[in-house]
Amino acid sequence: MILAWIDDLWNGATTFVTGMRTTGRFLLENLRGEGGASSITRQYPEQPAETIGDRQRGHLHNDAARCIVCHACDRVCPVDCFKMEGERDENNKIHCSRFDIDLSKCIYCGLCVRACPTDSLSMTNAFELDPRRDGARFLFPRSSGQLDVRFEESDVERLQRLSRTPRTELSAEDRTWLDGRIDPTGPHLIGMYGLGYYSPEEKARVDAEREARKKAKDAATKAEAAAKAAAAKAAAAPASPPPASEGAPKT
Ligand code: SF4
Ligand code: SF4
Repeated sequence: MILAWIDDLWNGATTFVTGMRTTGRFLLENLRGEGGASSITRQYPEQPAETIGDRQRGHLHNDAARCIVCHACDRVCPVDCFKMEGERDENNKIHCSRFDIDLSKCIYCGLCVRACPTDSLSMTNAFELDPRRDGARFLFPRSSGQLDVRFEESDVERLQRLSRTPRTELSAEDRTWLDGRIDPTGPHLIGMYGLGYYSPEEKARVDAEREARKKAKDAATKAEAAAKAAAAKAAAAPASPPPASEGAPKT
């Protein structure tokens, strides 16, 4: 009994020393500034981080041009973050036409990135969600090359106003300004419905437009199929019998 107690004490002491040795090693590395980390606790957001570790798992980015809409990421995501749609081109190749990630649900586990067979999905080291801060992104569809564009509060208001205005109604100056801030390759890069970046009305409008496009496409496909069926039916119909006078014997 006493021996078991001493053994427990010994085990406790040795595991404590092992743990403290690991903690001490990391503390020394941090003090020496190794490993991209800093030992100083920063008062975020007043003191934003100056360096972000290479292995930081930040906001997701999908290179939509490489995405094959296989839904592997969707299936593996534990919190159901994704909404995606694909469209086939004239060569029957599928392209991503909508790819929304609800970052308000994401727990940054990285499972989706591991599951992606085309490596189109990656985690950036961006973490900021306030669009007025340096390094913030994803307020509107943006590419990774636009990470350095900083939004001031007035920018946010202008973006919100301009992004709701049809492009044909924008002035040349507004159009240039907008193009410098929004990814011109399309609105499917990343969506932020869950974060209030779009208002519920904006989301309803975007969804209604998408639904209308889908219905128009379905109607056109049906009309084309009906026309093809009618043409095939006409071609397969037997030739009409000759008029009775043509076949009658001459008297
Ligand atoms: S990181 Fe995790 S929670 Fe976030 S979208 Fe990917 S699988 Fe879902
Ligand atoms: S797993 Fe990759 S290729 Fe498949 S849908 Fe997701 S992002 Fe696209």
